[in-house]
Amino acid sequence: MDKYVYYFGDGHAEGNAKMKDVLGGKGAGLAEMTNIGVPVPPGFTISTAVCTWFYDHGNSYPPELEQQVRENLAAVERSVGRTLGDRQKPLLVSVRSGARASMPGMMDTILNLGLNDETIVGLAGSSGDERFALDSYRRFIQMYSDVVLEIDKEKFEHELFALRDRLGAKTDADIPAESLRGLVETYKGIVRSHSGKDFPQDVQEQLWGAVGAVFLSWNNNRAITYRKLNQIPDDWGTAVNVQSMVFGNMGSDCATGVAFTRDPSTGLRRFYGEYLPNAQGEDVVAGIRTPLPIAKTQVTSDGQQSLEELMPSVYAQLEDVYKKLESHYRDMQDIEFTIQSGKLYLLQTRTGKRTGFAAVKIACDMVEEGLIKPREAVARVEANQIIQLLAPVFDPAEKEKAVGGGRVLGRGLPAGPGAAAGRIAFNAERAVEMAAHDAVILVRIETSPEDIAGMHRAAGILTTRGGLTSHAAVVARGMGRPCVVGAGSIKVDYGRGEMRSEGHEPLEEGDWVSIDGTTGEIIAGQIPTRPSEVLQVLLEESMKQEESEVFRNFDRLLKWSDEIRTLGVRTNADTPQDARVARLFGAEGIGLCRTEHMFFAEERILRVREMILARNEKGRREALDELLPFQKADFEGIFRELAGMPVTVRLLDPPLHEFLPSTEAQISAVARDMNWGFVELRQKVNQLHEANPMLGHRGCRLAITYPEIYEMQVRAIYEAACDVKQAGIGVHPEVMIPLVGTVRELQTLTDMVRRVAAETFKARGVEIPVVVGTMIEIPRAALVAEKLGEVAEFFSFGTNDLTQMTFGYSRDDAGTFLPEYVDKKILPKDPFESIDTEGVGQLVRLGTAGGRRANPKLKVGVCGEHGGDPDSIRFFRSCDLNYVSCSPYRVPVARLAAAQAELEFQHFEG
Ligand code: PEP
Ligand code: MG
Repeated sequence: MDKYVYYFGDGHAEGNAKMKDVLGGKGAGLAEMTNIGVPVPPGFTISTAVCTWFYDHGNSYPPELEQQVRENLAAVERSVGRTLGDRQKPLLVSVRSGARASMPGMMDTILNLGLNDETIVGLAGSSGDERFALDSYRRFIQMYSDVVLEIDKEKFEHELFALRDRLGAKTDADIPAESLRGLVETYKGIVRSHSGKDFPQDVQEQLWGAVGAVFLSWNNNRAITYRKLNQIPDDWGTAVNVQSMVFGNMGSDCATGVAFTRDPSTGLRRFYGEYLPNAQGEDVVAGIRTPLPIAKTQVTSDGQQSLEELMPSVYAQLEDVYKKLESHYRDMQDIEFTIQSGKLYLLQTRTGKRTGFAAVKIACDMVEEGLIKPREAVARVEANQIIQLLAPVFDPAEKEKAVGGGRVLGRGLPAGPGAAAGRIAFNAERAVEMAAHDAVILVRIETSPEDIAGMHRAAGILTTRGGLTSHAAVVARGMGRPCVVGAGSIKVDYGRGEMRSEGHEPLEEGDWVSIDGTTGEIIAGQIPTRPSEVLQVLLEESMKQEESEVFRNFDRLLKWSDEIRTLGVRTNADTPQDARVARLFGAEGIGLCRTEHMFFAEERILRVREMILARNEKGRREALDELLPFQKADFEGIFRELAGMPVTVRLLDPPLHEFLPSTEAQISAVARDMNWGFVELRQKVNQLHEANPMLGHRGCRLAITYPEIYEMQVRAIYEAACDVKQAGIGVHPEVMIPLVGTVRELQTLTDMVRRVAAETFKARGVEIPVVVGTMIEIPRAALVAEKLGEVAEFFSFGTNDLTQMTFGYSRDDAGTFLPEYVDKKILPKDPFESIDTEGVGQLVRLGTAGGRRANPKLKVGVCGEHGGDPDSIRFFRSCDLNYVSCSPYRVPVARLAAAQAELEFQHFEG
């Protein structure tokens, strides 16, 4: 017979902590606590398998269930010495949900089940407190009616409040028994009039009604939304816990509370929680009464009495229990407790949710305390959370004030973590000008490479269009700039110079706005920020290591990660500053240096335009000759910064039209400079227009038609390398050809690179190893990888373009439909954010295997945005890649995620 029900009580449980799949988190916790001797009221858990059965069989139960519930209920009754439905000594139970992953408050709970017109007499008698019994009954009727009978709880609350008003009672505790008796009758009347039936008096009917309602609550809207947001599978189902009631509301020697074994926001090692004297659990959550601090050290205002002071001996027992639980679970716990007549009971324990700051501190402290090993510490911190340690933060109190004051204008995608406040600038030029005086938030519909300078000077970036791989998002992450993208509810009107959001005054240039790149919130006005300590130590050097525990823990955790991981971590950087940041964050080289950004600087763009618009090769070469010293200086700066670590330089990639003058004023300026007529130039610009530039004349295709562009770049790379080498500094350039789809493209351009390199070495009398590889970002390249592997010395998967081209989704426009695709579960997640392992991932596997068949030593990396995403990193580890490359500020995330991937992989491999 299948086992569907698991007992816990009297120091022994049929389940344990490892059985979360079957018992849910709460059930597993109750079983484990029982087994280790923590006081837990006896009960039983109906397994998640029943939930699955329930939904698969038209909301019915497996036939064996009824008998199993009956037997387990009898065991609970024996243990407590009370019987469900008994007139003299009635057993009351709670019926609570509990899924495998915690879904706080999303599903239903019923307390005090087992009360009816007869058992209430027994409860009043056995507790010696009629008022308490009546209060429990009215609570039960309200809760049961709300959850099972679906009668709006407002109807009951309305009557309760009216009664309180009539009596002039401040709290429910001031309502006398006589009035409660009347209220119970009123409640029963509400039930009758709304359901057409009397409130169920049969305790078995109550029990099964409650069990069914809890299973049904797995699919209420709140729970569905929560699962979507937290990526919890819909088919897990919830368990149901039926447990004998203990009461925190039976008098002044009773209480109920919740606590964390360490501070969940800072990680500080202190017992931290809240309680309410003479109250039931729901009162703490409901927020009607303000809970009190449990520990003396938490007391902040006069008149607050901590539990430690109120009930010192129970508090001491609670301390013993929390220590026992923490050392047993070897992790910070979040517990729920009730004190009934001076006796302590634990009702729940689970791993406590914590901020990134707390996660890192707790992990490091626990290693120090000998509770866990470094590799466990590494596994404990969610890789994405470590970013919180780098970001400037809003002053929490000030932010709360702003949110409470209705200043939230909207919400977009959190693209660059951190908080920033500044004056609004609607274009990059104004941003640069205004940044000379004040912090600036660059607000754009979307950004383009021309906005780089403005983005660089801005404290934060806000766009109303675009997703997480839009230009704004990629660049902001690279710069470590707080950034919110795709805030569609905000309308930017460049013409009027304002941004609007419904229900708020429009904001104009110069007005203050604050953006939270960790949450995506956009808030009117200026909220003050604080810089992160890690940056103060590492980059600004304005703080010493010894002064910052946050930094020391950050550093320790990442060093442990480095000892574990086998996947290399490089960075995507195209300036010496970015390269420096990434190196300080632990990058082991540059995996992608995008050279196009270098072409936009003021003194260069004109030369670039001249080059593109030249009438012939000679004109192009002249313009290129002028650009060469700039490029060379760029590379030299980067090579010096990296001092011998590999630097993968990608030759020019974007379509040329991105560099063309677009406004009439720009065309005029270029025409003047080049000695051309305005009309003639405009015609040429129009000629170069492409209908579909991302699939047009870009990447290596440009170099096949205009080889001189790449030749200039290659010369600049190797001249710079020669200079650096001659200065006695290590240098290790790798040249990467973008957008390759055929082996002939790669072969032709590789030959060119080798030829130009050889010419440079000859002229300079210096030799440097020449390493040439290709990006794999066109599906065809992955398919012919074996052939490419015969030519290339390395592959780097450009998973941004590879995703774009495999799905056929434009990376710049997919923001219009991808969120809905994810919402409607057409796709499990945004494939530009986390690698689509099924499709695009298959090309990564195929391409790697193909390339290595031709060249077993082929080095393979990833340089698309996925290189900084922990789920994607796990996948890349499983494909046996050599490294990932990501934005500088993602480097710590990638180090940690790569170590976690390794731990999982080793575990999997046994
Ligand atoms: C890519 O396509 O993944 C890539 C890294 O190149 P870019 O984003 O510059 O197109
Ligand atoms: Mg690309």
